[in-house]
Amino acid sequence: MHQNDGHIIKELGVACPDCGSELLLRQGRFGMFIGCSNYPECHFIQSPNKQEEPEQPTQASVSCPECAKGTLTERKSRFGKAFYACDQYPKCKFAVNHPPVEGHCQYCGFELLVEKKRASGTVLECASRRCHKVQESE
Ligand SMILES: [Zn+2]
Ligand SMILES: [Zn+2]
Ligand SMILES: [Zn+2]
Repeated sequence: MHQNDGHIIKELGVACPDCGSELLLRQGRFGMFIGCSNYPECHFIQSPNKQEEPEQPTQASVSCPECAKGTLTERKSRFGKAFYACDQYPKCKFAVNHPPVEGHCQYCGFELLVEKKRASGTVLECASRRCHKVQESE
């Protein structure tokens, strides 16, 4: 097989929509592209950017500061507002209204902070109902 149109980076295990042969990820002179293994008979070509879905940033799981067993997971309230509740509910009723961030409060030592959007930027606040102090940024 003589291919002067870029070397194979990997076999994608996906059938060519034109001829049914396997698609290959190749490195060509002008960058990466997806080509048909049946080339040059089949001229199917695709940009690899279109093929690969952008990865969703997965929310890091933050453990519940109250029961230390559960993790805080994103939920939607009846009004469509996001909040973050302990997955041990109803055993544990801990919940916050802002994205939880792992950390310690500089003032009371509470083991959870939340991220709040302000006009001046994002701030971290203590998640404790009794404290709610904005953390000094280092
Ligand atoms: Zn093909
Ligand atoms: Zn909990
Ligand atoms: Zn605090």
